[in-house]
Amino acid sequence: MRYGKNWDVIIIGAGPGGNMAAQEFAKRGVKTLVIDRKQQIGPPKRCGEGLSTRWMDIAGIKPDPRWALQKIDHTVLVAPNGKEIHIDTKQMKRAGYIIERSQWEKSEAEKAIRNGAKYMLKSLVTGLVMGKNGVAGVKVHRNGEDEEYHSKIVVACDGVDSMIGRYAGLKTAMPLSECDAGYQYEMANVPIENPNSMELYFGADIAPRGYVWVFPKGKDIANVGIGVAGGLPENAKVYLDRWIENNNERFKDASITEINAGVIPVTTPVDEFVTDGLMLVGDAARMVNPIHGGGMGAALEAAMMAAEVGANAIKVGDTSKKELKRYQDMWQEKRGKEFARILRVRQFVEKLNDEQFNMIISLAADNKIKPELFVELGHGKGLVELAKALIKASPGAAKFATSFLK
Ligand SMILES: Cc1cc2nc3c(=O)[nH]c(=O)nc-3n(C[C@H](O)[C@H](O)[C@H](O)COP(=O)(O)OP(=O)(O)OC[C@H]3O[C@@H](n4cnc5c(N)ncnc54)[C@H](O)[C@@H]3O)c2cc1C
Repeated sequence: MRYGKNWDVIIIGAGPGGNMAAQEFAKRGVKTLVIDRKQQIGPPKRCGEGLSTRWMDIAGIKPDPRWALQKIDHTVLVAPNGKEIHIDTKQMKRAGYIIERSQWEKSEAEKAIRNGAKYMLKSLVTGLVMGKNGVAGVKVHRNGEDEEYHSKIVVACDGVDSMIGRYAGLKTAMPLSECDAGYQYEMANVPIENPNSMELYFGADIAPRGYVWVFPKGKDIANVGIGVAGGLPENAKVYLDRWIENNNERFKDASITEINAGVIPVTTPVDEFVTDGLMLVGDAARMVNPIHGGGMGAALEAAMMAAEVGANAIKVGDTSKKELKRYQDMWQEKRGKEFARILRVRQFVEKLNDEQFNMIISLAADNKIKPELFVELGHGKGLVELAKALIKASPGAAKFATSFLK
């Protein structure tokens, strides 16, 4: 297939952020090209495939049986000592789906194409073309050749290992301590008590700073994965394999159908995610919920904002950093403050030792902490309430919790 050399916008990456940006730019009549290094949109996924209806509503995405595999409206949290609490998220109007991500990404790309976007696959972006007003296009390695494509704006939706921001001089490097390492098996023949329920397992020996998840994709199929702090002496796979072995009774007749691994940025976004002619979206700008590592929803929302601002910038003929910064300001106002609060919750939770974690789950099991609080913590709320409950329950925890609240 032949592609023209001049575009209004070039989007790098056909993941959640890239597909949504393409839909939103193209529907505004912007001449849009999406470039991805993969030869097929979707696989390999690097994802537990959990997507909440809250994000779907924000992005105007309706569940489709082709990819919305399993409705989730219940959560089980399991403390290091094995004590569980069950949270009925349906009552809180907090639900979600475990999706078939590859199929979902493809259907989002199809929507963008119907809006007028073009997709160029098996094409690696190797650099930026710089013009007198900043970024003016991309260098691409395709069909064994090096080519250049020009555009008024480049939108980098190229994921956590993004190089594009760096090519333009943005400071996107991230310390290892701010990354989690993720590892996951999709497994079949897994005994699942309630397919509507996701299970999260905590503990310093189980998953330091993270958790093990079991996300059902049906009656006996599940994503069984782990996220742990980056830079540990043992890697995420070792922790996950150990947890599965320790739960041999459950997993002895199950087997792996897919292996996925990836890095999850669990920190605040980069300080600057726009410059002249360039916008970063999603993982490329580190827009991930720092407590649970989910980033698909944030990428969708940021893409919508970037397209709104970017399309207008193209229309008025000003794609300078000053004009594009409206996107960064919009994001900071709408989501940045929330993510900063969530980071603080994560910093609190990661300092809890197993004893304190056990205590929190026990308090919840005894109705001394309302289960809704755990959902609120995921949105950066309820930290003071949690710390106060801990202080009341345990003089031992008081010093730690009080010092954190100062
Ligand atoms: C193990 C694991 C589990 C996770 N579980 C969840 C979960 O359950 N729910 C959730 O919401 N989030 C989860 N996440 C995070 C989620 O996967 C990301 O936040 C999300 O994919 C970000 O979307 P994106 O569009 O920004 O980037 P990506 O989805 O990473 O897409 C980037 C795209 O850019 C392409 N690309 C990159 N570089 C180039 C280049 N130079 N040239 C051309 N193309 C390029 C890639 O091929 C890719 O298609 C998980 C992450 C991991 C690692």
